Amino acid sequence: MTRSWRKRICGDKFVTEQFTHKVAIVGSGKVGTTFAFALQLNGLVGEIVLIDLDVQRTEGEVMDLNHAVPLTNPVHIYQGTYQDCAGAEVIVIAAGSAQRPQETRLDLFRRNTAIFKQIIPQIIQYNTEAIFLIATNPVDILSYAAQRISGLPASRVIGSGTILDTSRFRWLLGQYFSLDARNVHAYIIGEHGDSEVAVWSLANIAGMPLDQYCKSIGCSIPVEHRKNISAQVRNAAYEIISRKGATFYAVAAGLVRIVESILRNQNSVLSVSNLVPGYYDIQDVYLSLPAAIGQHGIEHILELPLDEQEKNSLQHSAHILHDILDQLEI
Ligand code: NAD
Repeated sequence: MTRSWRKRICGDKFVTEQFTHKVAIVGSGKVGTTFAFALQLNGLVGEIVLIDLDVQRTEGEVMDLNHAVPLTNPVHIYQGTYQDCAGAEVIVIAAGSAQRPQETRLDLFRRNTAIFKQIIPQIIQYNTEAIFLIATNPVDILSYAAQRISGLPASRVIGSGTILDTSRFRWLLGQYFSLDARNVHAYIIGEHGDSEVAVWSLANIAGMPLDQYCKSIGCSIPVEHRKNISAQVRNAAYEIISRKGATFYAVAAGLVRIVESILRNQNSVLSVSNLVPGYYDIQDVYLSLPAAIGQHGIEHILELPLDEQEKNSLQHSAHILHDILDQLEI
């Protein structure tokens, strides 16, 4: 994995020093800056560059973030241009319009595809080695667009996909069973959006399927409760946006988790959006499946043994995304 270097003034001399890792963030709005702050708190990287059309606001964000350096971790944070993408191991893209109240993520696709057509060629002028991590919505469509525009291998263009939805699902199940959500294993797959699929058949606690776990502690999780939890996950973004206008904390935590798995080569299994390799008869579309993520990006996509209904729902999700992709002009 490449390392980034910088020249620094030390007294009256220039010294060249090595940082451990560099991340570039394109789009320093609510998602981009919350991610930058979470990354700073985490102490994973030595260098973070923020790039955005709105230079003045980005300068302000950078000042604010830097003022936390003495209280958090030694990290070099600065406002930059596309040239500063050089040397970054991961480039996170959170630029673009955000979802408006009542607007679906798919409604956003035309506006944000046009933005990607501007920014991706500028990034790859300076960096074709990095792993691209897309957060901009509709994330499955834009990850596909980013891969097509950049020409990079699909394993190095990853969408944050349903890492957020999976986290919401696990949190709700943790609440239901009064358990630490980190010990609840369950996935949301498919589109990061209305057609996403909750994989109830494989949800487990300590390796026990939910029905077995319920039996062991004398509780139950009836179908109407399952439907309610799935709906809460699916509608979470609408609920949050109608109250506070945007979502950013949980997605930022999800982005940090993905970046951590890449930079530390952890091979963590996370639900992210990637080009489906023909599983479930699905081709030529980005959607989320659990995948092992390491230093090369997507190391391996898992083919879950879904039940018939889940498989049908996943294929339906793929159809919806295909219909949108048919309108994509790249
Ligand atoms: P925001 O409006 O706060 O920030 C967007 C930023 O993009 C702004 O700073 C804007 O100046 C910048 N931008 C716009 N066009 C640009 C261009 N051509 N070049 C460089 N910068 C440009 O929005 P936000 O709340 O930060 O959301 C950003 C995106 O992330 C949205 O598409 C939103 O829907 C998405 N999002 C994704 C998830 C997820 O789970 N994947 C979750 C929340 C939000």
